[in-house]
Amino acid sequence: MEIIKTQKGRDMLVLDGFSFLREKKGVNGKLIWKCSEHKDSKCVARCQTIDGALVKSIAVHNHVPDEAKIAARKTITDIKQRAATTQEASHQIVATTSAGVTAAVACQLPSVRGIKRTIRRVRQEQQRPLPTKDNLQDLIIPNAWSFCS
Ligand SMILES: [Zn+2]
Repeated sequence: MEIIKTQKGRDMLVLDGFSFLREKKGVNGKLIWKCSEHKDSKCVARCQTIDGALVKSIAVHNHVPDEAKIAARKTITDIKQRAATTQEASHQIVATTSAGVTAAVACQLPSVRGIKRTIRRVRQEQQRPLPTKDNLQDLIIPNAWSFCS
């Protein structure tokens, strides 16, 4: 089990290839999570955690797990993290984070152009200086990213 961030910065719990969104807080620090397919698939699976530990799982999903989607989400979280905390050029961030990404995961990711836009946005929000050495000659698109564009 692990907790990652959604695109909007919300906590997302990942368990056995399924993802859950925080639904509400219970008593004694208990958190109740509902399946992220709750809306789209009307999935009723839920789980409960206390202090980051799983205490209860009502895991009867009405859909298959989507590991690729979750892996893609983690990659994006990683990209945003790097954009916010390093001075790496955006193509370098793309190259580093996409190393080892499978084709299935790559297909769930936005285009390289879209990712670079995300990196710029994160940095603008942080008001960090953009790296200057970010020209087209340096742009190498890793193989994994060229599958679905
Ligand atoms: Zn579900």
